[in-house]
Amino acid sequence: MSEKEIALVTGANKGIGFAIADQLARRGMTVLVGARDRARRADAVARLTGDVHGVELDVTDHGTVERAAKEVETRFGRLDVLVNNAGIVGELPQTPGADPLPGVRQVFEVNVFGVIAVTEAMLPLLAPGARVVNVSSSVGSLADMTARDGGHLAELPALLAYPVSKTALNAVTAQYAKYLRDRGILVNAVCPGYVATDLNGHDGGRGPDQGAAIAVAMATLGQDGPTATFTSEDGPVPW
Ligand code: NDP
Repeated sequence: MSEKEIALVTGANKGIGFAIADQLARRGMTVLVGARDRARRADAVARLTGDVHGVELDVTDHGTVERAAKEVETRFGRLDVLVNNAGIVGELPQTPGADPLPGVRQVFEVNVFGVIAVTEAMLPLLAPGARVVNVSSSVGSLADMTARDGGHLAELPALLAYPVSKTALNAVTAQYAKYLRDRGILVNAVCPGYVATDLNGHDGGRGPDQGAAIAVAMATLGQDGPTATFTSEDGPVPW
């Protein structure tokens, strides 16, 4: 079995996920680039250096999730790092009275249920001391939104899908942290900050490498590292 640590990053073909894959590979890990589209996956693998391998993975497609877990088991035997990065903002209808539920469901399928599906499939492969990192967002922070003195997120427009999905993801993170504590597996959520990617039409003020850094820090924690945290590069984020 490989001496190198083995990391799987979902949605690793571009944006923050690509930068996370790049940084983990540069640290000497074997990196599995999870991506749903064959051409985009191959292109990403070609642009990365180090021990990187593409793995077909659409987090909303049970078949690819199961096959990815089998492939990891057969080819690599275990996982030391799982980064649940794949995420979408989604689109909700702007017309008054239009049903928002299909759009909300779609966002939850990727940002919440997709994380649960991938984590469940990979659970048997997670080595003792493994790290699970869920890429969340401070827009999902209820504590900030409801802060008595007015958190900065209170200024954002009301949205039913994306921020709520990240609130749920933070809760999912806390539950997995509790569940996996006895196996010595650390489970943490991170906020990358506002990063210029396709997700926001490249409106973010920081680059993907900068956004990836906190995920990489939590993916490379020592065994005595924290679990069940929500962290940005500035430190703990209120939930
Ligand atoms: P991008 O849109 O650049 O990348 C998103 C990635 O997720 C792509 O690789 C995309 O693949 C993948 N993806 C989407 N749906 C699926 C799916 N069903 N199965 C597998 N992969 C999928 O966005 P970012 O890099 O900005 O976002 C990465 C994470 O960071 C997300 O979870 C996002 O919520 C979070 N985040 C981003 C912030 C920002 O400012 N950018 C701020 C806070 C959090 P494909 O190319 O095939 O669509």
